[in-house]
This record gives sequence, C-alpha cells and structure tokens, in this order.
Amino acid sequence: MHPFSFTKAADTRDALNAGRRGGRYIAGGTTLVDLMRETVERPESLVGISDLPLREVTVTERGGLRIGALASMAETAAHPKVRTLFPVISEALELSASAQLRNMATIGGNIMQRTRCTYFRDVTAACNKRDPGSGCAALKGRNRTHAILGTSEDCVATHPSDVAVAFAALEATVHLLGPDGERRVPFADFLLRPGKTPNREQSLKQGELITAVEVPALPRPLKSGYLKVRDRQSYEFALTSAAVALHVRGGVIQEAKVAAGGVGTVPWKLPAVEVYLVGERPSDALWAAAADHAAKGARPLEHNRFKVELLKRTVARQLRIVGGTR
Ligand code: SF4
Repeated sequence: MHPFSFTKAADTRDALNAGRRGGRYIAGGTTLVDLMRETVERPESLVGISDLPLREVTVTERGGLRIGALASMAETAAHPKVRTLFPVISEALELSASAQLRNMATIGGNIMQRTRCTYFRDVTAACNKRDPGSGCAALKGRNRTHAILGTSEDCVATHPSDVAVAFAALEATVHLLGPDGERRVPFADFLLRPGKTPNREQSLKQGELITAVEVPALPRPLKSGYLKVRDRQSYEFALTSAAVALHVRGGVIQEAKVAAGGVGTVPWKLPAVEVYLVGERPSDALWAAAADHAAKGARPLEHNRFKVELLKRTVARQLRIVGGTR
C-alpha cells in the first residue's frame, strides 16, 4: 500500500474544504481500501466522512424516498418505508455482497464502487480504466462476465452495483454538494459510459460530495422487485439482473420501470421494454414479448454471448414475478 494521509471531517464544510484540496472521501471503505491494498488506487490523502449527518432515510412530501448517502446498505434494506414503498431497493441491497459488508458499506459508496473486471484489479494487465492508453486486456481475454451493452473499443467492463440498477429503473436523482453549491443529477447522467475515457466513471466535479439519492414518487399501487442471476447463490456479482416496478390499474399496465444489471457498462435502463408494456394487459405472453426487446443493441464478446438470451429470460421472469402469472 502506498503512503497516504488521513483526516476525519468534523462537518460538511470541513469535508468540502479537504475535497477541494484533492482529498478522496471515504466512509465504509469497503471498495477503496481493497483497491488501495492492491495498489490499483493510490490516493495521497483520504477524508473520513462517516460522522457527517447524511444517514437519514425519509419519505418525501410526494411519497418518494430520500436516502442519505451515508445510510448503510443494511439499514437502508431493512428500513420499513423502503421495504413497503420500494421493495426493489431492499431486494437489490440484500442480494449484494455479504452481511458484514452491507453493515459497513454506504449507499453513496455503493453507487461509486468500481468494476470487478479482473484485469482492472491486476496491475500487471493492460487496462484503460486504471491506466489510460494502456489498452484493454478483456477485449481478447477472458470476458465471460463483461458487458454486452454500452461498451466501447476502450472498455467493456460492467458496473457492479445492484442497487444502482434499482435506482436506474426508478429514475432516481443524485444530490451533490460541492464548492459551487448543491446540484441534482438524474441517475441516468450520473454514471458515465466508458467511451474513450473509461477512467472517468461519474459526472462528479472536483470535491463534490454525494449527499443523498432521491427516488421519485410513483403512482400506487406499485409492485416492484429485483432478480439477480449469478454463478453461485451468495456473495457473487450478477451475470444478469432485472429491476422491475409496475403500476397496474383497471387490469392495464399504466407505468413500467425496468432496468438490467450485469450486462451494461452502466446500469442499463430498458425503455423499449417499458414502452412495450404500457397500455397492455398483464399476461405471460406479454412478459416474454416485452423481454425480447431487452438486448436491443447488444454487442457480445467471445465468451459472453450467452448473456443475450440470459438477459431476456431474466427480464421475462422478473416481469412475471412482479406482474403475476396469467
Ligand atoms: Fe480495463 Fe475496462 Fe478493459 Fe477491464 S474492460 S481491462 S476495466 S479497460
């Protein structure tokens, strides 16, 4: 591990001052410390932010949710309002990592976590994300777990977060605080596709701090849930996953929110599936027909062609679980 300095921020202003000077924020540390041990990350200065008052989970005036960036994964998943209003969030969190990690890791850290691409974590391998301009070992290497959507010539790594898939489906907003004040960024614009700069992963400015993630209110009744398909039943990242929320009234689907994980360089919203569902009556045939649109634009690699069909089946299955079998 490379030498670094550590200071603990006493309050938000203190944190922002340190962030402006180039300090890296750290809370649970479950991703960053690992990467520092492997010398993938070499920050010179860390700013501890775990004491900042950003842990609250509240229901907004309109019936959405505001989740403080420092709320732990475990406490967010267990929060009665999260479980009642948006079970898709609780389920995505509970299917992530281990119980120990969920107790430490925060919501802000979770959406900031870096890819699990093995070449990214191997400092001897070519990786444009870790070392811009060095190449991408995954393109011709072992790419079974890599992305089929949103890839570029420079990077094909997936985003590893489960809850980010739920936030993408629900069209959440990320609240930021920085030297220039507060701003809100739609979740779809917060995480960046790799393009020619895979080392740039979020639309954060220097020194900006995530303060909360806000999930908008959706019409009720709303059913939602998260399905994760992986090589083993626990402590494993998604090969494919699906976050689904449906509002059905009078036997007709009025609103559909759908996103997929494990397949995109960012959590992958599925607007073609959503559009196909709205105005239709739930049925097994509908779920299958809608899911056929899930892999639109996919560009599979040598070892991950199976993800195209697996993605469609994952989405169809989760639509059936949430929307019912008919
Ligand atoms: Fe690096 Fe991305 Fe290529 Fe993996 S896929 S080796 S993270 S550039």
